[in-house]
Amino acid sequence: MPVIADHCPNCNSPLSWERDSCPGCGHYVGPPNIREVESERDALKARYEQAAEDSRARGCLNMVTEFTERVAQDSVAVINLWPSFLAQFLNGEKSLYSGYTLQTEAETRRAANLSNDRERRGTEGTLFGDYGLQIRYAALSIDCIGLVSYGSCSVSLRNALCINKGTLLEENSYSFVHRHRILPGDQIPEGRRAVWQDRHYLASAKIAGTIVQATTERNFAKLLLLSNGDRATDEFIEVHIYGAFGKEAFVAAAVPAVKKATTQEERCDLGKIHDSLVSLGILCKQV
Ligand SMILES: [Zn+2]
Repeated sequence: MPVIADHCPNCNSPLSWERDSCPGCGHYVGPPNIREVESERDALKARYEQAAEDSRARGCLNMVTEFTERVAQDSVAVINLWPSFLAQFLNGEKSLYSGYTLQTEAETRRAANLSNDRERRGTEGTLFGDYGLQIRYAALSIDCIGLVSYGSCSVSLRNALCINKGTLLEENSYSFVHRHRILPGDQIPEGRRAVWQDRHYLASAKIAGTIVQATTERNFAKLLLLSNGDRATDEFIEVHIYGAFGKEAFVAAAVPAVKKATTQEERCDLGKIHDSLVSLGILCKQV
């Protein structure tokens, strides 16, 4: 069971596990997802060390070490958006990136289909409880390309946002809950989540077993994140960001070239996106 600091270091009032500040003095204690996952750092490190030891026995520790270092240095959290949404988001002065449940409850969007809606709400409740409402989802990538099944435009988020608000889960929430047969109220298996600073340990603990002597540096990006446009076959490490963020959190984007648009509307949106990225000083790669 995660051990979460239960008293305020400032005024000693009891803290609530789901809040980010003290109810007595307002002292900021950090997002609940980070406070929860911090208690698992030793379990994750142990998993990583076991994976490294196994890879030594298979003669591929060098490549696993290279993969781990690459993730530590180059990995970013990426969200994927369709051009119509991104064009509007970049153009809005007050746009905030919200979550599914907040949007449906505010009636600014309709629910997904019945099974997808139950899946999302059930998984969120099982993994996060009360603060699930505040979680935004991204994927970990080392080539700045994310889950194209969720949109052709990949947007990389600022490292500082991820340090301050982010944690990671080794796979898609829904498949994680299913794979481990976690029912609402059950404990989450330890060592399968990470704080942002430990993301390379999580990536290696998950991926090391698939790295063989023939693996090269060119394979790393797809080992970490594989998305061919079908959500059912996506493989990735999920990033959980607590709270809303705006376009100020965007540091780079990988967006289809305007000439790749298949409709007049998309051509128009992609043109607007490229112009907005230039004016906002956000690095843009055409894909
Ligand atoms: Zn306090």
